[in-house]
Amino acid sequence: MPYETGPVPDYAPHLGPCWIWTGYISPEGYASTRSRRGLYEKLVGPIPVGLDLDHLCRVRACVNPSHLEPVSRRENVMRSTSFAAANAKKTHCDKGHPLKGDNLIVGTTKRRGKIVERRRCKTCNRLEGAAFRQRNPGYFKPYNDAAQRRRAQARSAA
Ligand SMILES: [Zn+2]
Ligand SMILES: [Zn+2]
Repeated sequence: MPYETGPVPDYAPHLGPCWIWTGYISPEGYASTRSRRGLYEKLVGPIPVGLDLDHLCRVRACVNPSHLEPVSRRENVMRSTSFAAANAKKTHCDKGHPLKGDNLIVGTTKRRGKIVERRRCKTCNRLEGAAFRQRNPGYFKPYNDAAQRRRAQARSAA
């Protein structure tokens, strides 16, 4: 099969695991429209003319037909903008930490070729970093060693 059982989406865990497309993924992160629609039509049925498939799970590379819902193009665009707007207005992260003051990291990210603001929870960022280091021991060692060498060089130069 051209897909595999993927992770359960954070945005909508009740939907169950995503099917991550293993073929071509566009630079925007989407499986091709043809593969997404083809699978949907094969497993669910024809998509009414003029309708797009909207991701209920918000995972762009997902082709799980039960995560896809036919909607009008206008509605699809409105949904994604209201999703972005809701995200920008969030006062707490998904884990319930407050998104303000010391706990808020405001950075930027690239979305559809545009630089947009990205708000991030510092607590979650730290926890994810710690989990990553635990899963990948030694990953940062070359960087830390290089930094140590630079510090030692600076000391001996002084
Ligand atoms: Zn999905
Ligand atoms: Zn958090």
